[in-house]
Amino acid sequence: MRRLSIGVRLTLWYVAIFALGELLFGASMFLILRHNLYDLVDDGLESQIEDLRNFLGAQQKDANTAKLREEMAAIYEHEHAGDFLAISDQNGEPIYRSRFLQAQESMPLQPDQARRPLIRTRRIHGQHFRFAFERLNVDGRVYTLEMGAPADDAFETLQLFRSYLLIFAPLLLVVSTGVGYWMSRKALAPVDALVRTARDISGTNLNRRLQTLKTGDELQRLTDTLNEMLDRIESAFQKITQFTADASHELRTPVSLIRTEAELALRRSRTEAEYEESLRQILQEAERTTLLIEQLLELARADSGRESLIMQPVDLLAVVRSVVSSWQQVAAVRNLQFTTEICKLDALVMGDATLLRRLADILLDNAFKYTPSPGSVRLALEVRAETAVITVQDSGAGIAQEDQEKIFERFYRVDTARSRAQGGVGLGLAIAEWIVLQHRGAISVESRPGEGATFRAELPLIAVDVPSPLLMK
Ligand code: ADP
Repeated sequence: MRRLSIGVRLTLWYVAIFALGELLFGASMFLILRHNLYDLVDDGLESQIEDLRNFLGAQQKDANTAKLREEMAAIYEHEHAGDFLAISDQNGEPIYRSRFLQAQESMPLQPDQARRPLIRTRRIHGQHFRFAFERLNVDGRVYTLEMGAPADDAFETLQLFRSYLLIFAPLLLVVSTGVGYWMSRKALAPVDALVRTARDISGTNLNRRLQTLKTGDELQRLTDTLNEMLDRIESAFQKITQFTADASHELRTPVSLIRTEAELALRRSRTEAEYEESLRQILQEAERTTLLIEQLLELARADSGRESLIMQPVDLLAVVRSVVSSWQQVAAVRNLQFTTEICKLDALVMGDATLLRRLADILLDNAFKYTPSPGSVRLALEVRAETAVITVQDSGAGIAQEDQEKIFERFYRVDTARSRAQGGVGLGLAIAEWIVLQHRGAISVESRPGEGATFRAELPLIAVDVPSPLLMK
């Protein structure tokens, strides 16, 4: 089932609450008004009862019922107060009953029926009355009394009030429904605009942004957040596009070199030595291409989050030692001095041993590549308070200040020709930075041109729980 829109749901809630409010307000106003109007009539009734009490009090103490009947008939027959009066003595013998009530054929009230004073609304011949039923105790004699007062005015006022309520409440409800719907549409109009713009944004126009609102409310926060998200998506998209373009370019170079080399070799017949040289060139380019593809794959897996890291406690001491011997051989071949300064303390980090070895290899590979002979390369492992630091220092050409931030970017090479000549593809440091970040560490470079370069990778150590003295009992 299709859900109702937020605008319609808001309006329905608004109308339901408004209708409930109207109902409660109308009902309570009606009850208050009725109470007050009847109070006015009841006050009149009570003063008439008080008059009657005075009248009865003024009669002779030994006057019998017949005498009282005469007296009452003489006074109340002609008085307005007697129009709706019925009174009987303690035995239920009627003393006076107005003509109006006689015509009513209603049974005279029995003494025990009016044990407690009671006022009721009665409808007689289409007219409304308030009737008091009461037992009057006057000088020890008990009378049962039924006295009424017309309440038509009060009743008509109430009727009128009810009619107004029944006419205006639905009208107000209709108007408020319209206003509620209009308000919810107005409040949600920016959302529709957002949806329209968001629908138009695709890979080709990622620079488009949602219209910024200056409302200072949730919608403004939503648009701002979405725009920030678009910023991030656009920059990630640009990076990927750039990466793809760079990767294609990088792949094209060795492939075209291989092709040219092969074409040249085949153009005419060559000596065995020339063919050998051509094949060596082709092999070299093929090796470079393989390396490039491997590194590209590594970064692509890293980007997609599919590179599954096997994180476990790793001793950096063992990692560093495991790479040293092979680099000692490289140093010997290249005629470079290779020194190591490895601290003897445990350097336990939470990490992936293969990737950490790769990190050390990348830094050492660069140091050896960019340090001409005679020169030196130093590998150090230090353990500080909370971090282990791997330092690779060389005495090579160094890196200019402006290049130091960029060398961690993919495919960035200070001297492309030189890097290519050394077999570099410009991805090593990007991979090194990714590895360090995966281990919540930091990588930095310090260098002055002509004075060599120092790369430092800082990795957080596993916190070793030192038992508290209080617990060491
Ligand atoms: P490459 O495969 O070209 O070595 P990297 O990402 O490892 O790619 O390094 C990027 C660039 O940083 C290199 O091309 C080089 O210009 C510079 N670089 C890296 N390490 C050193 C170093 N130890 N000394 C001088 N330059 C370096």
